[in-house]
Amino acid sequence: MPFQSLNIIEPILKSIKQEGYEIPTPIQKEAIPIILQGTDLLGCAQTGTGKTAAFAIPILQLLYNDKTYERKRKIRSLIITPTRELAIQINESFKTYGRFTGLISTVIFGGVNQNPQTQTLQKGVDILVATPGRLLDLMEQGFVSLTDLEFFVLDEADCMLDMGFIHDIKKIITVLPKKRQSLFFSATMPAEILKLANSILHLPSKVEITPSATPVEIIKQFVYFVDNGNKAALLIDLLSNKDIITALVFTRTKHGANKVVAQLIKNKISAEAIHGNKSQSARQQALYNFKEKTTRVLVATDIAARGIDIDDMEYVINFEITNIPETYVHRIGRTGRAGAKGTAYSFCAADEKPFLKDIEKLIGKTIPEISNHSFPLIDHNPPKVIKQNRPNSNRRNPSGRTSTEINKPKKTWFGNKQY
Ligand code: AMP
Repeated sequence: MPFQSLNIIEPILKSIKQEGYEIPTPIQKEAIPIILQGTDLLGCAQTGTGKTAAFAIPILQLLYNDKTYERKRKIRSLIITPTRELAIQINESFKTYGRFTGLISTVIFGGVNQNPQTQTLQKGVDILVATPGRLLDLMEQGFVSLTDLEFFVLDEADCMLDMGFIHDIKKIITVLPKKRQSLFFSATMPAEILKLANSILHLPSKVEITPSATPVEIIKQFVYFVDNGNKAALLIDLLSNKDIITALVFTRTKHGANKVVAQLIKNKISAEAIHGNKSQSARQQALYNFKEKTTRVLVATDIAARGIDIDDMEYVINFEITNIPETYVHRIGRTGRAGAKGTAYSFCAADEKPFLKDIEKLIGKTIPEISNHSFPLIDHNPPKVIKQNRPNSNRRNPSGRTSTEINKPKKTWFGNKQY
């Protein structure tokens, strides 16, 4: 099915064509008609599914088609997303898809001087992409007025919860006009997120998308059992394989990421960390260096890596096993994009074995072990138990169904509530 059959207007079709998109992704096929007819949307989808275009294209179209629109630009669409990287990527998408519409979008986020952002806002914009903290800050200072808002998008809601932004979101919602169209996206639907969705949305249609190429099918996955104290040595050993041109390494904490980078650099392996304590420009620069392959290893925390879109990245290494199985799927989903090759290695210490079991349950298969390596597990009963707060997420099997549940009262992850 081509994009034309979704009734997309010519100026947007032209930009989509320039981008080289030929057919809509499943979430675009399902969400675009729903949004164009003015209905609220509850979407369960993660980055990499084409989610941004699924909401950006119909919003641009509805804004463009509104002939009552006065020439004085006002913020008529607000997109809130948890990280600076995602905010920048979403704004770039709006600019790309909207390049022939004359609509103006901008992005605001914290950690940088606010003046360039407020200057752009004062000139007038139609679409604002924001992270929650900077948005509240600029609202309080009077630089952002949301009284003319028509479209509200909350993106990566579960990530907002993990990052402690829920309070900020609730505060923002109280000032939004009651009459608006709202779109709500989350990769998982823990109870608290569903409650938040219910407080924002009005009679929503629901779309649940499982990425078509699931990690189970296309990404080669392996586990090394190794003591925590030997993980850095194992990583350096693994990277002696020159076939690994670049690798994205995941740690649980910012401190852990810095430590891994220091150890790699000590061993003459170029590496940079990307996490919330780094300045915006340092994060962008690290990402750029990694994309350009001048940095061989990017070490990231889960939050910082959410939404990172790097073409032809083949290797993901889980330096630490996450206790949230869905996060494992997100992590390894950074590789093997668009049919490219993907390999994921996981370093599992004895105290992480229960987490590995949960992951294998979720993906529905046992991850093969590489046992023939230089640092086999010695300490089978380490005293230290990793404690992590596991959000109350509903587990979903990523190899499960891809379905649309438009106005169907059916027992799903939404619960069996009829909207
Ligand atoms: P997202 O899930 O929004 O982060 O998008 C993931 C990637 O898919 C981005 O690099 C988009 O440029 C790309 N993309 C989105 N829609 C399409 C499409 N219909 N055809 C090809 N690529 C797409």
